[in-house]
Amino acid sequence: MNPEKPVDQNGIREMLKQRKNMEVLLSVCASCGMCAESCFLYVNKDKDPTYMPSYKAIHSLGKMYRKKGKVSRAELEEMRELIWDKCVLCTRCYCPVGISIPSMIAWARSICRSQGVFKEYDQPNVA
Ligand code: SF4
Ligand code: SF4
Repeated sequence: MNPEKPVDQNGIREMLKQRKNMEVLLSVCASCGMCAESCFLYVNKDKDPTYMPSYKAIHSLGKMYRKKGKVSRAELEEMRELIWDKCVLCTRCYCPVGISIPSMIAWARSICRSQGVFKEYDQPNVA
């Protein structure tokens, strides 16, 4: 991870375009909170709101869409905790309108990885 390397915001924007359906789905999230109780991490962390599935998606992938890819390295680093430390992609979270939070978090991870932001155990293969 090179903190000096500039973020390729155009590259992020192009990746975001590949999954426009996720932007639409994020826009229909009613913030009802019904997904929260199905996340064991949220329940086990004394219902810390930052562990809510919707919170994690909205403040990672959702933020990238809202800013049209114009996110800073510091913002990507902030997302790292949310999308790696606070979600294990177990797919247990349930949303009545069919929003797949783990798919969104997995995609947010891919975008972060493209910019050199990842967990040490999750390094991309680099030639
Ligand atoms: S993801 Fe679904 S269940 Fe969770 S807050 Fe949004 S609409 Fe409600
Ligand atoms: S996929 Fe992530 S947000 Fe969904 S239940 Fe598992 S840990 Fe929670």
